[in-house]
Amino acid sequence: MNEVILIKNGELALKGLNRGTFEEALLKNLRYRLKSLGSFTLRKAQSTVYIEPQDEDVDWDEVSERVATVFGISAFSRACVVEKDLDAIKAAAATYLEQSLSEARTFKVEAKRADKRFPLTSPEICAAVGGYLLEKNPHLTVDVHEPEMTVWVEIRDFAAYIHGPQLPGAGGMPVGTGGKAGILISGGIDSPVAAYMMAKRGIQLTGIHFASPPYTSERAEMKVISLLEKVGVYAGRMTLHIVPFTHIQEEIGRACPEELFTLIMRRFMMRIATRIAKSTECGALITGESVGQVASQTIPALGVTDAVADLPVFRPVIGMDKEEIIAIARRIDTFETSIQPYEDCCTVFTPRHPRTRPRIDEVEAAERALAVEELIEEAIAGVRLIHI
Ligand code: ATP
Ligand code: MG
Repeated sequence: MNEVILIKNGELALKGLNRGTFEEALLKNLRYRLKSLGSFTLRKAQSTVYIEPQDEDVDWDEVSERVATVFGISAFSRACVVEKDLDAIKAAAATYLEQSLSEARTFKVEAKRADKRFPLTSPEICAAVGGYLLEKNPHLTVDVHEPEMTVWVEIRDFAAYIHGPQLPGAGGMPVGTGGKAGILISGGIDSPVAAYMMAKRGIQLTGIHFASPPYTSERAEMKVISLLEKVGVYAGRMTLHIVPFTHIQEEIGRACPEELFTLIMRRFMMRIATRIAKSTECGALITGESVGQVASQTIPALGVTDAVADLPVFRPVIGMDKEEIIAIARRIDTFETSIQPYEDCCTVFTPRHPRTRPRIDEVEAAERALAVEELIEEAIAGVRLIHI
């Protein structure tokens, strides 16, 4: 029996004139994501994307799993393909859904007739197929309001399709349709979740990580890479920029008041991230900050940090509790990696009493003891690129 995947693209349907662009991006992302699983033909018609395998021995479970990670899909179905003939449809429904029908107690049939040339109306198709399935499965009863199982029959242009319940898609918009942004990624729990959330809105990510060897180890860097690989299951390919941060931190430690260390360090991160973002066509920055989580994430502290970023800074987890962030981290499988012990450049130079209500003028005054521009140039000259 021939199988296909049918994708109904939820939010995309709302995009009016942009729809073509969005669908093209979705097809491109799907092709990329399915490449390693065999050859597939992808086509779109009547606001549905069809995924048809070219090989016999497709691993449908794996294909479904991959499709479920592609943004821009609200729901999809694995369906069997039959010729548009009522007897063939009845027989295929009984065989293809045999297992689910044998496990259900109540069911109904829903029919959609996109091809109006088909001789039966939708209610007639439901009655005919439903009657046949009842005959084959005498334990079943019909329940049109709350059935345990719904059998879908869709009569479309080239064939009829039969499927059971739809599977949930990853939602959001196809990656690439929302432009590009730089994600400041640490090895913690929050920034990978922030990355995932913005990729879900169609944003293509560029990673930016600050490393302070020898205070931070190569293992900490490997951890960031594996976190981005996990985010990449959803967000697709990206480039990671590793910025050498040791000299900057040592200079801050040498010349600035201890209670302002973290803030000044975060301002350097923002300045450098802005430079990298602009040189890689990113229109915004993303961080994993959440109000009140630590001293550098109070409103005054965020204000002082934002003052040096002349790009919009997106903080998708800003209003979330740690528990809520962790729930997403578990779902996208970054949590276990995030909680491995590691040193972050932020934790290496932590002041004992960080300021929670900094004033911008005193931070700016403290920074005058540093050769800010030179330090930034030096860090940018030392950036290493890794392709994820
Ligand atoms: P996370 O769990 O994402 O590490 P956090 O709660 O530990 O966040 P901070 O360490 O204060 O918070 O960092 C706040 C944000 O700053 C992070 O979410 C991340 O976006 C960015 N950040 C922190 N350290 C780094 C780093 N070494 N490289 C790049 N970005 C960083
Ligand atoms: Mg952190």
